[in-house]
Amino acid sequence: MNYIDNILSGLKVSSPAQQEFYQAVEEVLRSLAPVLETNKHYQQHSIIQRIVEPERQIIFRIPWVDDGGVVQVNKGYRIEFNSALGPYKGGLRFHPSVNASVVKFLGFEQIFKNALTGLPIGAAKGGANFDPKGKSDREIMAFCQSFMTELYRHVGPNTDVPAGDIGVGAREIGYLFGQYKRLTGRYEGVLTGKGLLWGGSLVRKEATGYGTVYFADCMLNDRGENLQGQTCLVSGAGNVAIYAMEKLYQLGATPIGCCDSTGTLYHENGLDLTLIKTLKEQKRESLANYLNTHTSATFTPVDDYPEGRHALWQYTADAAFPCATQNEINKNDAQGLVANGCKLVSEGANMASTQDAVECFIDSGIAYGPGKAANAGGVATSQLEMAQNASMQRWSFEKVDNQLQGISKSIYQQASDTAKDFGEPNNLVLGANIAAFKRVADAMIEQGVV
Ligand code: NDP
Repeated sequence: MNYIDNILSGLKVSSPAQQEFYQAVEEVLRSLAPVLETNKHYQQHSIIQRIVEPERQIIFRIPWVDDGGVVQVNKGYRIEFNSALGPYKGGLRFHPSVNASVVKFLGFEQIFKNALTGLPIGAAKGGANFDPKGKSDREIMAFCQSFMTELYRHVGPNTDVPAGDIGVGAREIGYLFGQYKRLTGRYEGVLTGKGLLWGGSLVRKEATGYGTVYFADCMLNDRGENLQGQTCLVSGAGNVAIYAMEKLYQLGATPIGCCDSTGTLYHENGLDLTLIKTLKEQKRESLANYLNTHTSATFTPVDDYPEGRHALWQYTADAAFPCATQNEINKNDAQGLVANGCKLVSEGANMASTQDAVECFIDSGIAYGPGKAANAGGVATSQLEMAQNASMQRWSFEKVDNQLQGISKSIYQQASDTAKDFGEPNNLVLGANIAAFKRVADAMIEQGVV
């Protein structure tokens, strides 16, 4: 479709050298073709041109002092992408790979993910090219305080409510919140993922991982199956991966492999999740140390694998849950998984699979849940945290978990029903993108040219 090609080539001129962003935009726009062809008013209102351009991009300097007394400087971002459905909402990522392209792809995906939840939340994403690895607690605090010293001007409970992402967990959210409170004098729900003692919601820590597994269960149930007895590969060993593994065990499945940035862990008997939590959540150590306790497991360092990638997808399992980072499944990985009999992929990570890997999954007929639908439980539970903060209430674990399950089911149903309506029942990418787009686009039209 010429219309889409023109927008994509225009984007490459107006936003040069943003590969990850182009990839995310192209995937969405191609799947919208049937809607754009039959609903010309979206073109008349230039919805696509508006939706691919963030409403606001804040880029800032973050100076801080390391333990050696040396001043360090990092680059910070907050991309406020779309507020048609509510206050901006989306995580912060602290990782050396963070740049404008990565933050924009994440912010763009967030528009559609947040729309699918059915909740009143707009979309943003942010972060910094800061590497928390090997830093002392004092250095992390100094960095977070400097980051918030700029960010506080742009966020607020009714404006923009950041959360965590890679490299930003409970510790970082705590330091960020403390500095916001100090600068503004206000104790309010400006961040989600807060500690349970001071405004956090039960289930928020578990929500993205649990939600990704609930979504997987919905996909299997529709095929007359469930997760009981299934072997699973779960990439990553961070917040999303750990709680995906926890829910898999609870539903009778067995995670047999995971990974971190140092390498891949495989344990045929089933991973010892208590040990993984100790290594990763408490000690912040490499998964390689798992072998000190379980000698029958194997660990493949990333250095031993081509292009420094992790080796997880070479193993045979019934289901795969990529929960580490973007583009971690390429075409070869996807073909290997399918050839080895993998029948389900549910993405905890954002844009976990390259475009040709996604095509491989859809063409092969296996169940494939794209990140923006499968991992939306995290942001949905963040909104439940906002609702509790605004009403000064604290809900029980069961209440939040029930709502998370309900939202995961509803997202699956919307994506699946829309995919069927457009004659491609196995294409949840198309289903999720179209269902989400219509909600945002219609709201944008009703709100006029803003
Ligand atoms: P964390 O930082 O808690 O964990 C990331 C994990 O992935 C770490 O174990 C890290 O290794 C590992 N990892 C990162 N890059 C690689 C790589 N190239 N190869 C192998 N392992 C890698 O982040 P989250 O769990 O929060 O986020 C993971 C994914 O989920 C991201 O794509 C994020 O955008 C997405 N997501 C997160 C949400 C949330 O609520 N947190 C919500 C929705 C999506 P190491 O331990 O060595 O650092």
